[in-house]
Amino acid sequence: MSTTRSHPHKPADRAVWLKGPTSSCNLEGPGPRRPWHVVLLGPPGVGKGTQADLIVQTIGACHLSTGDIFRAAIAAGLDKASPAMRQALVEMQRGALVPDELVVEIVRERIGCMACQQGFLLDGFPRTAAQAQALEGILDKASVKLDAAIAFLADDSEIVSRISGRRVCRACKATFNLEMSPPRTAGVCDKCGGELYQRDDDKPEVVRNRLATYHATANPVLEFYRQKGLLHEIRVGRTPQETFELTHKVLLAV
Ligand code: AMP
Repeated sequence: MSTTRSHPHKPADRAVWLKGPTSSCNLEGPGPRRPWHVVLLGPPGVGKGTQADLIVQTIGACHLSTGDIFRAAIAAGLDKASPAMRQALVEMQRGALVPDELVVEIVRERIGCMACQQGFLLDGFPRTAAQAQALEGILDKASVKLDAAIAFLADDSEIVSRISGRRVCRACKATFNLEMSPPRTAGVCDKCGGELYQRDDDKPEVVRNRLATYHATANPVLEFYRQKGLLHEIRVGRTPQETFELTHKVLLAV
């Protein structure tokens, strides 16, 4: 039997993470066997989101992506965003990083997600050494110990072809890849029937900016976790499932 189906979990709706601490999450179902506290690292488009989905289905934990917070703010309407958030979204839409202070503040506001019994898979944060340090402080405050930082590795050329084929569901945010994991019906989400679209920041010129930004800031973050003995590097396989077999082994061993 496939490992992805042996312990099916219903993901939480992540309302607190996506909309902020005044919201409350709908936590149905049994919850994970234990709360895993994991950071997922790697270049944009390497498949962190897909691995996170597979982990959530298999062992539970909440998938907390900082990019999803910004996309949720766009979906909610720029008129509702604070001036700082609007500035962040301008940076995001041109493929640049959002300033550290703002991203850290947004994560700090969501400290409840760090302490939650569901555990977490942080995706897209930390992206700089300053963010990694700030996260350590937030986790200390939440009395949570990080179990692992898993870094997914792939060449830039692989990434560009992955990202240009990526499609995301407008409704449930499930991700597909036109080559590696295509939807059963073109343009339609297998999971909820929602419309699939290509993110603006997945367009080739923006992807090139995002990769350049990643290379400029990633090494200190990898080094930060290597020195703490928390770093696990995984070269991505031909399929998401192949990569997941390796990811799952790491998670069961930490
Ligand atoms: P992602 O979905 O993780 O690729 O994030 C999409 C975009 O959101 C990035 O290209 C950045 O502009 C912004 N973003 C997300 N997370 C961070 C972060 N930790 N630090 C700075 N910018 C971020």
